[in-house]
Amino acid sequence: MNKANKAARRKKKNKRLRGLIILDIVLALLVLLGFLAGSYIKGGYADSESAATEAADEIIRGIEPAVKTASAIEATIEEEERRMQKDAWSLLLVNPWNKIPESFEVETAATEKGYEVDERVREPLEAMLADCREAGYSPVIISAFRTRETQQYLYDRTANKNDTAYPGTSEHECGLAIDIIDASSSGWADPLIKEQEDLPAQKWLMENCHEYGFILRYPHDKEDITGIIYEPWHYRYVGKEHAAKIMESGKCLEEYLGRIDKDKERIGSN
Ligand SMILES: [Zn+2]
Repeated sequence: MNKANKAARRKKKNKRLRGLIILDIVLALLVLLGFLAGSYIKGGYADSESAATEAADEIIRGIEPAVKTASAIEATIEEEERRMQKDAWSLLLVNPWNKIPESFEVETAATEKGYEVDERVREPLEAMLADCREAGYSPVIISAFRTRETQQYLYDRTANKNDTAYPGTSEHECGLAIDIIDASSSGWADPLIKEQEDLPAQKWLMENCHEYGFILRYPHDKEDITGIIYEPWHYRYVGKEHAAKIMESGKCLEEYLGRIDKDKERIGSN
């Protein structure tokens, strides 16, 4: 083998080696690139994934109080509805626009002087009268439960039809209303006048009736909403809790129940 041949073979061998080395480097670079790309993509996904999770968490954290408030409000409304449902009998709205339902029935119980009231109202009524007397005053019941016939009779013989509720629209037919005067007005030609408000028993009743579950049903400043003149003698049972709320708010029953119908036609109007 001559020198030239040897040199040529070495050259060839070197060339092959160089080729292999270059191939190795290229492969290594490719692997590295692949690895980098992979980890980049993986990292990128992971990053965007965790960013999305974080953003979602942030949103949830942000709306959480609102969700809590909303469900709290919902629960309160439901609770309120349940309570109103339970108290439906004592919150029955009867006025010139709302007739007593056909299905209405009431169990009455006799109280003072033979007057009758819804049997559930007798005890609080008697407690109120007893405490009023205890305080030194003289309340006297002059009307309570009326049958439809009695209401019809009263209505028929009233000259001014605005003074007596149209049959079927009087709270007295429900056994939930009681007219109470101060004994000192018993001798008046008509004790059912505005001046009743100045008498001591009446003052005491107006101030304390809510503690027994009663409200003064027809306040002087709500005549257009109740459809009834100011009556500082007509007490209506609604239950202690509602009576306190109504009293405190200064609302009348229609306002409290959110059922103002004053712009509609009155029942029985010609
Ligand atoms: Zn009355």
